[in-house]
Amino acid sequence: MNTDRKYADELDQQDKLSDFRNEFYTPDNTIYLDGNSLGLLSKRAEQAIHDMTESWKQFAINGWTEGDHPWYYLSENLGALTAPLIGAKPEEVVVTGSATTNLHQLTASFYNPVGSRTKILADTLNFPSDIYALKSQLKLQGYDPDGHLIQIKSKDGNMLETQDIVKAMTDDVALIVLPGVLYRSGQVLDMKTLTHEAHKRGIPIGFDLCHSIGSVPHKLSEWDVDFAFWCTYKHLNAGPGSVAGLYVNQQHFGHKPGLAGWFSSSKEKQFDMEHTLTPAHDAGAYQIGTPHLLSAAPLLGSLKMFREAGIENIRQKSLQLTQYLMDLVETELLEYDFKIANPTTASERGGHVYIEHPDAARICKALKADGVIPDFRKPNGIRLAPVALYNTFTDVWETIRILKTIMDEERFKHYENERGIIA
Ligand SMILES: *Cc1c(COP(=O)(O)O)cnc(C)c1O
Repeated sequence: MNTDRKYADELDQQDKLSDFRNEFYTPDNTIYLDGNSLGLLSKRAEQAIHDMTESWKQFAINGWTEGDHPWYYLSENLGALTAPLIGAKPEEVVVTGSATTNLHQLTASFYNPVGSRTKILADTLNFPSDIYALKSQLKLQGYDPDGHLIQIKSKDGNMLETQDIVKAMTDDVALIVLPGVLYRSGQVLDMKTLTHEAHKRGIPIGFDLCHSIGSVPHKLSEWDVDFAFWCTYKHLNAGPGSVAGLYVNQQHFGHKPGLAGWFSSSKEKQFDMEHTLTPAHDAGAYQIGTPHLLSAAPLLGSLKMFREAGIENIRQKSLQLTQYLMDLVETELLEYDFKIANPTTASERGGHVYIEHPDAARICKALKADGVIPDFRKPNGIRLAPVALYNTFTDVWETIRILKTIMDEERFKHYENERGIIA
């Protein structure tokens, strides 16, 4: 392991994606490693927000059909721009709602309990919002959420094993919802195998891609995944509260969505104002009401960068960054009780590194005081996300140097070992 700063410089010089960093606003004197919670603003996203307000100013009501990006078609057009990131057909994707409301919509559409097949299969490591949504959907159908939501357990508290998940795909399961990448440990689940096994048992399966989209390539159509959903403010850099997205496999086109609204309508029929819905014959059918255009606009700018950079190139650099970070943790921080708790194999590793330490909460506070932005996850985890589009190998090297100083000088002891309001 070469621990010289010079080596980080060399890696930066060889980096084919290095120009993209100049497209982003990076906070002054800060090493930002929290792009998996909130991605940074790019100049192109900012311009796209500006262009959207200009189109409102210039066209007023006619903006629905006029201008460079007519609002009436924007959700579908942004879906088509998103499709290459997840290996889907353009018409299988639409930008709409939030990750959680999309999960509600997709559960309302794909959860069809019949006979003794009434349960939903999820896991114990998923983000709480997904679990709340699934439990409330069970309740709406008249089932006891505690008995009807099966949550696959983890042996080590951080990772799930494919065979444990497959074993839980029993005859009473009507729907499976799992993350593509676990938000804490960054483990990439084997979506291909899980989909294959679910379908062998006749169970529809969907994935939450909040932590994988924009960081890890997917082949949803090829894997035959039934549905997926994600937010766009993490690796997709579309800003706080930006409009989310969903994917529905084309074999499910033509059905009415579980939660209907006038934007579920076929575009040609929508303004006929009939009281019987004619659903759109694509993923657009899973929209509900008027799109949140001001919060969708930034995606126009940010998705163009993904198209130019290429998700395979992004993944390659991301893996290099996380490997470099893990190597430095292992050589430089071994003596301080840190444990790498994400999968170390490249194919199972998402876009961030997850390290554990008993003083994690206050180490994060000390890092922030020294200009490094990580994020803390209870009880003892530190997530560090070096993002391919805007972080450098020097950022990683510098982070380790700062962390080593904090440990050597025990600077973390100036803080309480508790999380802040948002951590
Ligand atoms: C970030 C995240 C969410 C957030 O959902 P919102 O509806 O955007 O608030 C949901 N699920 C997972 C796995 C996440 O990582």
